[in-house]
Amino acid sequence: ITVKFLHDMERPVLPGVKNIIAVASGKGGVGKSTVAVNLAVALANTGAKVGLIDADIFGPSIPKMFGAEDVRPSGEKIDGRDMINPVEKYGVKFLSIGFFVDTESAIIWRGPMASNALKQLIMDGNWGELDYMLIDLPPGTSDIHLTLVQTIPVTGAVIVTTPQDVALADVVRGTSMFQSKSIDVPVLGLVENMAWFTPAELPDNKYYIFGKDGGKKLCEKIGLKLLGQIPIVQSIREGGDHGTPVATETDSITGIAFADVAKSIA
Ligand code: ADP
Repeated sequence: ITVKFLHDMERPVLPGVKNIIAVASGKGGVGKSTVAVNLAVALANTGAKVGLIDADIFGPSIPKMFGAEDVRPSGEKIDGRDMINPVEKYGVKFLSIGFFVDTESAIIWRGPMASNALKQLIMDGNWGELDYMLIDLPPGTSDIHLTLVQTIPVTGAVIVTTPQDVALADVVRGTSMFQSKSIDVPVLGLVENMAWFTPAELPDNKYYIFGKDGGKKLCEKIGLKLLGQIPIVQSIREGGDHGTPVATETDSITGIAFADVAKSIA
């Protein structure tokens, strides 16, 4: 990775991290965090060293999705510097702004405060060597996105959407932001989430609740890679709520679907 320097011009930014991947979405509620968590676990299942940063400052959900809401990361002085040891679960090291502030107060933060908090998670985390660091960004396009690419060398972005038209319009905006001259981050591809629903009692039926192949068609239209289509499955929602991501069940249909997404970016 390109070596950039901190403000004190002494320390390289994340020299031990091979790939930094931003997980983004145009809209909230499309399953960005669910995909980030399951992709992190699926990558870890391949034997890769994986870190995950919950940068969704205004709605951090990763501690809950990992069943780690009550955990607090420990601090450690390394080379005279105060570092934060990430929490580790299912083979993934992670830090969330949710560990340090209550969401109520973060909601009224201004852009610069949120950006500084994100910088701290990245720079002061004791990440060690990582093959992948995933960053779960807030939805949309904001200061935080800009700070991120100015702070660290982001390898690429994964965009999550549902097949619905309103979500797809925001994907186009998000993609243009990453590909703009000032940001210049390659978009690795699109994950179409909530692509269809199959009721247990009708296993051969697919109901396209948010529209059929919206993400897939958009990829063809604007030249993006389709990284995968993930159906609406009750266990995905339950896994998120109970802190056991479905990607931990490697031989389930949902586990395989996330493993395929991991393969397509690895
Ligand atoms: P975002 O990060 O985009 O705001 P979340 O990942 O928090 O979205 O997902 C929103 C809600 O939808 C959560 O309750 C989550 O469990 C649920 N969800 C996401 N993807 C799926 C899916 N494929 N099947 C079932 N529920 C899902």
